[in-house]
Amino acid sequence: MILLDGNKLSEIIRKEIAIRVIDFCGKDHRPPHLAAVLVGNNPASQAYVRNKIKACEEVGFASTLIKKPESISQSELLNLIDSINEDPLIDGYIVQLPVPRHIDEVEINLRIDPNKDVDGFHPNNFGRMALGLSSFLPATPMGIMMMLDRYQIPTDGKHCVVLGRSNIVGTPITLLMSKKSKPGNATVTIAHSRTQNLSQITRSADIIIAALGIPYFVKADMVSDGVCIIDVGINRIDDANSSKGYRLVGDVDFENVKHKCSAISPVPGGVGPMTITALLENTWKAFREKK
Ligand code: NAD
Repeated sequence: MILLDGNKLSEIIRKEIAIRVIDFCGKDHRPPHLAAVLVGNNPASQAYVRNKIKACEEVGFASTLIKKPESISQSELLNLIDSINEDPLIDGYIVQLPVPRHIDEVEINLRIDPNKDVDGFHPNNFGRMALGLSSFLPATPMGIMMMLDRYQIPTDGKHCVVLGRSNIVGTPITLLMSKKSKPGNATVTIAHSRTQNLSQITRSADIIIAALGIPYFVKADMVSDGVCIIDVGINRIDDANSSKGYRLVGDVDFENVKHKCSAISPVPGGVGPMTITALLENTWKAFREKK
């Protein structure tokens, strides 16, 4: 069984990015610059943004964290987005989700300059991705594709079952895995909360990409021997033995499933770090395409 180690792989790719920054930027150019907008005090969002900023430092990017209170109005946030769009020193930025309930997430997403949309959520980028044109790919699916590529997991002609149909993971990874590309060329089944006979479908999978947000959902009797599993889920469960009072687990019952797998990504340390590495790649792309 191959452990698809997102931490180790990210370290390798981030070193490659850091070398590109040194080679290209030298004395003459400023480094790529990523900004992150964080609204409110959601602890998970704070942790995600912290990790993204730390990763920027690691590879030599500049980064700016723009924190706004939970009470920010829709128009204030739109004005902030306009000002970031116009800032020539910011190459790419993200608005960390979720935003508070009173904020219209769709309107925010539509206002982001597609050329700075390093999360790849703007319809211009999503549409270009669907058409197979150059675009910013959503960071998590992109991180998964990088993982499959670098670990040389065969995908051509394989049956890939995606669990979950969200706009940020399930739907885009379904598109990418079915594209005529490498990795890709898979026959993809997308399953969701209304899918019937799910175990029958997952047992016929060569590759399972689990993105449901339900801890330990994928059990050993749902998979066949030799399957490759990418576990996207990040779920907090109570753990009195942990100093934080909780620990992170995936959507897959890792300990009981791993012995059946040809390859499996762990949680934490799998898709999570790869998502941040993909964000760095997108920021590099935004920077280079502006030059
Ligand atoms: P979401 O809540 O938007 O969507 C969940 C999907 O699961 C839905 O499409 C739903 O139809 C499907 N689903 C629910 N019950 C199901 C069932 N019984 N059978 C089949 N499908 C079912 O979730 P999301 O935003 O895509 O996130 C999914 C998980 O991935 C979460 O745990 C999230 O924290 C994690 N996540 C991780 C990363 C990362 O960087 N590793 C990034 C994004 C999301």
